Amino acid sequence: MRCMQFHEPGTPLESVTKDAPAPRPGQLLVRVSACGVCRTDLHIVDGELPALGRAIVPGHEIVGVVEVAGPGVERFEIGQRVGIPWLGWTCGHCDYCVSGRENLCDQARFTGYQIDGGYAEYVIADSRYCFVLPESYSDAEAAPLLCAGLIGYRSLVMAGPAKRLGIYGFGAAAHIVAQLARYRDVHVYAFTSPGDAAAQKFALALGAAWAGDSTVPAPEPLDAAILFAPVGSLVPAALRAVAKGGTVVCAGIHMSDIPAFPYHILWGERRIVSVANLTRKDGIDFLALAPKVPVKTTVETFPLAHANEALARLRGGSVNGAAVLTI
Ligand SMILES: [Zn+2]
Ligand SMILES: [Zn+2]
Repeated sequence: MRCMQFHEPGTPLESVTKDAPAPRPGQLLVRVSACGVCRTDLHIVDGELPALGRAIVPGHEIVGVVEVAGPGVERFEIGQRVGIPWLGWTCGHCDYCVSGRENLCDQARFTGYQIDGGYAEYVIADSRYCFVLPESYSDAEAAPLLCAGLIGYRSLVMAGPAKRLGIYGFGAAAHIVAQLARYRDVHVYAFTSPGDAAAQKFALALGAAWAGDSTVPAPEPLDAAILFAPVGSLVPAALRAVAKGGTVVCAGIHMSDIPAFPYHILWGERRIVSVANLTRKDGIDFLALAPKVPVKTTVETFPLAHANEALARLRGGSVNGAAVLTI
């Protein structure tokens, strides 16, 4: 099988041919048909997350078909479509795992990082962490639901019952969250990189009440804000934008340092929280909700061999919606 992998952070992905792995008990061998390109992949490739000292095949928004089911797999059959997310394995017995917070498990292993991911023709996955996908989505359309959608959904839950929601960074996750928010009658205020007219137009087309540069103040006080852009200076900007009691949710796995800020912008019971990974319950809840809204994903597809180009486009902020590799 062919896959795209890298050894040293900061180097391009290389196309490599390997033997397709065999599934162990409980695992699936999945023939990949589409894999979303997530900002986390960029953080891994660029060395902003700890290096593992071995080759990494990125990709954790995987849609494919079960080719072989290992012994003991009951939830999936050969030929069935599956979705494989970032959370690939947890210990199942630590305090976090037994209290519904498996996303925080210290032993957790993640797809496209510790586990070889979906920038490949085949992938192995633990069937207990795979999802059944709603039928109304094509493979490429379903891929961004698996991280952009899931993390966006968890972030929106974390933001609480806001009526006016700020979204900083209008990419793959934001374009899904905006639709969920509109479905709940929440007004969306979209903050983009200064001068990014295309992203602002995209946000307005998805029903945002307002779209503008992240450097300008919010047009009215917000109840909550979600930060998808990995830019620490947006944390104080968002704190200034939210009203008393408001929550600022940092949704990314990595962010540049947050500059010092005066206490009075946090005062008034404003809160800063982060969202880490996802639980299987998030996936089940969100994948049931998405077709009801219905969430429509805007995707730009690239062939597997063009994974470096897709990452470069994401790094440059020029992908409208979500980038997806088709395999
Ligand atoms: Zn655990
Ligand atoms: Zn992701």
